[in-house]
Amino acid sequence: MTFIDYSNEEKSSATKEEKDTTSSKLPEDASKWGYDMYPDRKGASSKSEKPSRSVTDYLTGRGRDHLDKIRCERNVYKCVKESPLVKLMMGALKSSGCGIDIRRHIACEECASNVSGGYDPIMNQVIVCHNTVKSEGMVQGVLTHELIHMFDYCQNDLDFKNLEHLACTEIRAANLGHCSFMSAWINGDASIFNIKEMHQNCVKSKALSSVMAARSGISKMEAINAIEKVFPKCYPDLEPIGRRLRRNSYDMYKAYEEGYYYGYDIP
Ligand SMILES: [Zn+2]
Repeated sequence: MTFIDYSNEEKSSATKEEKDTTSSKLPEDASKWGYDMYPDRKGASSKSEKPSRSVTDYLTGRGRDHLDKIRCERNVYKCVKESPLVKLMMGALKSSGCGIDIRRHIACEECASNVSGGYDPIMNQVIVCHNTVKSEGMVQGVLTHELIHMFDYCQNDLDFKNLEHLACTEIRAANLGHCSFMSAWINGDASIFNIKEMHQNCVKSKALSSVMAARSGISKMEAINAIEKVFPKCYPDLEPIGRRLRRNSYDMYKAYEEGYYYGYDIP
């Protein structure tokens, strides 16, 4: 059972190929950033073996996908080095005994066109979809969201098969990630009450779409009921970021600074 945000479809239909044709003949730039950046994913489970592209593919028009992957890995690397939010999440994970190695725990993969990322609790791995997530800012958003799932899985007894558990972690991810960035762009005429309501609505609707996509078998009403039931408990839970990022881009830097006070081991 693999839990993937927004969709539980197989992410890629690419065929498996011989690996010995790939690494040695890549362009210099590709071997620096490319195929072997996440070597541990290969063979960790034969079923989820990562599809790799051959040089032939690269030369015959599948290079677009190859370049997407390289760009994705560059963006991941940049976020891990520079993004206060991603660094905060990585520090919080490490302090919780779930330290992450980007080669092992983050992978750029081709996904269905409506999917931006996912968290696979079996592999304990975050997936960034290199064909749909193309900017550094979007990669930061996906990483923050998925690392919150990883954090919840590490810290709490989280069972992704339990609908209320799933609803709770999706509420937290929407709250601390996506909807905080949304509200950071709202300014001027929105009153503080409007913002509060808009933010809660944003969290509920984002969580709903994530829950619906991760569970193909449930009705919208079941998903809404689960979200409403756990919302009072899960919405105020701001760990490990500690604050919603509101109308002030410095908030993410404050959260990062405050990480030290929580005792997180921030890189
Ligand atoms: Zn999610």
